[in-house]
Amino acid sequence: MSTSAAESSTTGRNLWIKQPLACFTANNSDATNGVVICGDQIIEMVAEGQQPISEIHQIFDAREHVLLPGLINTHHHFYQTLTRACPPALNKKLFPWLQTLYPIWAKLTPEAHATATELAMVELMLSGCTTAADHHYLFPHGMEQAIDQQAEVALKLGMRATFTRGSMTLSQKDGGLPPETVVQTEQQILDDSESLIKHWHQQDENSLVEIALAPCSPFSVTQDIMKASAVLAEKYNVGLHTHLAETEDENDFCLKMFGLRPLDYLESVGWLNNRTWLAHGIHFNDEEIQRLGKAGTGICHCPSSNMVLASGICRVRELVQAGAPVGLGVDGSASNDHSNLMQEMRQALLIQRLRYEADEFTHFDALTLATKGSASVLRRQNIGELAVGKKADFALFKLDEPRFSGAHDPLAALVLCGASQADAVMINGEWKVKNKEWLEGDIEALMAKHQQAAKTLYS
Ligand code: ZN
Repeated sequence: MSTSAAESSTTGRNLWIKQPLACFTANNSDATNGVVICGDQIIEMVAEGQQPISEIHQIFDAREHVLLPGLINTHHHFYQTLTRACPPALNKKLFPWLQTLYPIWAKLTPEAHATATELAMVELMLSGCTTAADHHYLFPHGMEQAIDQQAEVALKLGMRATFTRGSMTLSQKDGGLPPETVVQTEQQILDDSESLIKHWHQQDENSLVEIALAPCSPFSVTQDIMKASAVLAEKYNVGLHTHLAETEDENDFCLKMFGLRPLDYLESVGWLNNRTWLAHGIHFNDEEIQRLGKAGTGICHCPSSNMVLASGICRVRELVQAGAPVGLGVDGSASNDHSNLMQEMRQALLIQRLRYEADEFTHFDALTLATKGSASVLRRQNIGELAVGKKADFALFKLDEPRFSGAHDPLAALVLCGASQADAVMINGEWKVKNKEWLEGDIEALMAKHQQAAKTLYS
């Protein structure tokens, strides 16, 4: 035990999450007999055959639970939960899919957006997710406070979140895809970005809410906004995020519009660095993968969305080998259409097995993507692993459904048998889910409100 751990164990109440059925630490350390937390931090790992050294005040009996670090989602569009399985967008390729949905999304209201944010975050939490990044880039009239609203929801829920301030400046009349009503001027975007960072971005160790800057995609903003966002992100030391290399169509579009492949364009606007993470990152060539690795640019793998839109398969193994941080994301609910990070892990395993040999992408690789990998993508050093000093963010699963009956290896069973609901979830030292139920709110009431908002947006 470290000195700081010994100090913190003398104050507050120490909780021992005792003797889990199985445990994934994401760093090969031994927590066979569980972990001890004090407040919002892990203060002790209890190895096989050991008892805690810390004084114990409370015990959570985890003998029926598989213990994981809280799962981390690195890409979502919460507002899209209002357009799941939406008839006009079904069975369409990316560009026509976007063009169909933009006019519907343009009618988004602040109330509907707050409800969608809450529903998506609770849905993620129930699947074992404790940190979520959202990418919001739609700012029709009346939605100017969209990110402020989201931050308020996250603080109310007590869930860790990175809100990425999206932007679009190029509407159809400028050669872009969205209608004019959802784009903003460069000045509006930069002013709001700076004010959001100053107001919400928590630089301290205990941060729940962080802000990052996120032009929607290279084909929806000007070169100037890409460059200005990179400068602003460096000034305030915040992350940069966008969609990149999702489809072959996008490669053609970039070549036609800028005379460059997407990654070359990204580099030309000052984005090829380690504060950037990219959603999808599918259509990179070998040389581009090496450049991403060298720059430490993160990739968010979104397997379900990539399958729904027939976009392709992210080269996860090669990216990791090249040194790029790679995490997992469910993507927006108009192309998944669920927000279940545990199920997404299974999708990652399955889709990666279509690209690699069965022994080249394991269930441990899938678990790592959603934990340590995602934490490094978001540049959050204090989550994603079970270790002394890390935050007390946990997902605990019970193997008590018919789908697990007869399973031998509990960790492999989570991924292979298709776990979907966490039995217990702790965020920052506080229980948020127990017995598969959200403790601090009424899920039925939230769903009824959300369903009504979805009907108002499209019916
Ligand atoms: Zn997306």
